[in-house]
Amino acid sequence: MEHPENDSKYLGLTVNSGVAQPPIVNPYARARVRRKPIPEASELVEGILKGDVTMLSRAVTLIESTAADHYARAQEVIEKCLPHSGNSRRIGLTGVPGAGKSTSIDVFGLHVLREPGARLAVLAIDPSSERTKGSILGDKTRMEKLSLQPNAFIRPSPSAGSLGGVARKTRETIVLCEAAGYNNIFVETVGVGQSETAVHSMVDFFLLIQVAGTGDELQGIKRGIMEMADGIVINKADGDNIPRTQLAQAQFRSALQLFPPAPSGWKPEVLTYSGYFELGIPEVWDMIDRYFAFVKENGYFEQKRRQQARYWMYETIDEQLRSHFYNDPDIAATLLKLDREVETNRRSSFTAARDVLDRYFSSKSL
Ligand code: GDP
Repeated sequence: MEHPENDSKYLGLTVNSGVAQPPIVNPYARARVRRKPIPEASELVEGILKGDVTMLSRAVTLIESTAADHYARAQEVIEKCLPHSGNSRRIGLTGVPGAGKSTSIDVFGLHVLREPGARLAVLAIDPSSERTKGSILGDKTRMEKLSLQPNAFIRPSPSAGSLGGVARKTRETIVLCEAAGYNNIFVETVGVGQSETAVHSMVDFFLLIQVAGTGDELQGIKRGIMEMADGIVINKADGDNIPRTQLAQAQFRSALQLFPPAPSGWKPEVLTYSGYFELGIPEVWDMIDRYFAFVKENGYFEQKRRQQARYWMYETIDEQLRSHFYNDPDIAATLLKLDREVETNRRSSFTAARDVLDRYFSSKSL
């Protein structure tokens, strides 16, 4: 419509008609975000075996998905990749937040990649991601140098599900990474809870990263974690901190003497280094190389991998049973009711558990 002030009774400037405002939402955006169809299992496998990182990432996304059809396709891919897996050094790294894991993985990773033909995948198991829905480990931005390396594949922790579920997904991702030619696998976790056991059960070498300077160094470290470690390394051995790290080294060495011998026959070593100033890194890797030579020689390497394969079968059964049970809508509703009854003492924990299990099993036997 013509503007009223353009009427002949108004003199002076004319008012131009306005320009149509573009819509707030880009009409093309919908078309753009439409996802590409998920490739067939055979296509994914072919890509992975060629070392195609996009295909590898897509397959890992399928592993991490909670959708049933994704799960089925992921399992098909894993099954086909399995014969091509296994050819790697799997190394677990743990340490409390702030111990310097990301700084260290960055420099350890670069060190490993210096070997001709080396490729490295960095994966993570982060129990905190369950609660916060945000992963603190394996984030690309935490490993600045490594993330620029074409031979490095960094994948944050899968976030959804129980620790068992998260760990299984990481275990399956190892298979795909190995099939894609990654011959070094780092699995990182925070040294605060049960996730160490999960990592320990999927790696060949378990490295505990410690820091000195808190007085009694051994306090706060669970005995079980120390017992799992094939090597203990004390980070931040630089500047004024050197005497403290040396003291911690002596304390750890004497503490380790009290432990029973490891089934591998290997005596865990305690070293100091500085991730930030890149001091003592070759020595840490020399220890790891010696470990691999030792366990390959005495047969423990193969034995442990076979044990781990069995362990993961049972873990997967446990996890699938649990998730099948808890994801059943009828069970979920029953549990909600029973939960309150048990809490308010109207029902005993045991009869409530028996009732809900009976309900589950009777629905299965139909
Ligand atoms: P993460 O939480 O275990 O991943 O630890 P980060 O790698 O993020 O390191 C925590 C802090 O310790 C950062 O401020 C680092 O700069 C610092 N840091 C890491 N390694 C060293 C080291 O070797 N020497 C010193 N002095 N500081 C370090």
